[in-house]
Amino acid sequence: MNNDVPEIGSPARTKAILNRYRLVAKKSLGQNFLSDLNILRNIVSAADVTDNDNVIEIGPGIGALTEQLARRARRVVAFEIDENLLPVLDETLMPYDNVKIINQDILKANLPEVIQNEFEPGHPIKLVANLPYYITTPILMGVLKSNVTFDQIVVMMQAEVADRLVAEPGTKAYGSLSVVMQYRAHVEVAFNVPRTAFIPQPNVDSAIIRLTPRAALPVEPYSDQALYGFVKGCFAHRRKSLWNNLQGIFGKQPEVRERIEAVLDKVEISRQLRPERLTLINFIELVNAFHADGLM
Ligand code: SAM
Repeated sequence: MNNDVPEIGSPARTKAILNRYRLVAKKSLGQNFLSDLNILRNIVSAADVTDNDNVIEIGPGIGALTEQLARRARRVVAFEIDENLLPVLDETLMPYDNVKIINQDILKANLPEVIQNEFEPGHPIKLVANLPYYITTPILMGVLKSNVTFDQIVVMMQAEVADRLVAEPGTKAYGSLSVVMQYRAHVEVAFNVPRTAFIPQPNVDSAIIRLTPRAALPVEPYSDQALYGFVKGCFAHRRKSLWNNLQGIFGKQPEVRERIEAVLDKVEISRQLRPERLTLINFIELVNAFHADGLM
């Protein structure tokens, strides 16, 4: 590699690349390019990427994070939806022979198939990305539902969404996203990123979230999908009581209401509680109890 060329994520090089290709960042695709080498390196460190790791990246943009990943990882496969960025990535990532760009919408990708085709088995698989913010939740839900077991997920998102992911019961930010994510992983904020670190600057601040496989829970739900649907239903009207939301899920017929009441008594949860008071374990116990009762 030519050592005179500054790294992609330096402000000077980012500006030069954008000028050279006459690129105008597309707001509709969440294009805010991170141009701070310290932050980029810290993201890779937060995922503890080593040359034994295979990495999936979502939205490489002009390649700033991809370059830092390529330097430390065994192999990097990155999904980029914007075909205008392909010639740029061809040039910026030329020095790295361990990177493959797939021009595809991540929401339509078959992750298990890509992983099987692109990565040699027997190495940790990590997901590291500066996510397009307009689809953060669908991407995370898609990743969880894909059943790929990532050894580590380190992703940048809008700080407000990050707050929801790590929120604890009883707080304003706690909702179905918190419960579902915390069910699948240990979730923590690795560090915050100011809007000034991007070109162009977004109008929100950002945070890096780290998801690590969690320790076994004392109780598991009878089905993951049932838990996801149930939790979503319980938070459908977060200002209403759990009791009201449960009738929204199962129905209001007198016989159904009696059964809901019996299940709540059995798991010792008050009808008057608001959904945001329930812990992950409460939700799992409820879903299992409704299943045992035959309502689910
Ligand atoms: N990784 C670069 C960085 O850190 O500077 C760019 C990150 S930028 C926030 C998000 C990137 O995701 C853009 O390159 C955008 O084109 C891409 N993108 C947006 N929607 C996508 C989708 N559905 N599938 C794959 N990539 C997408």
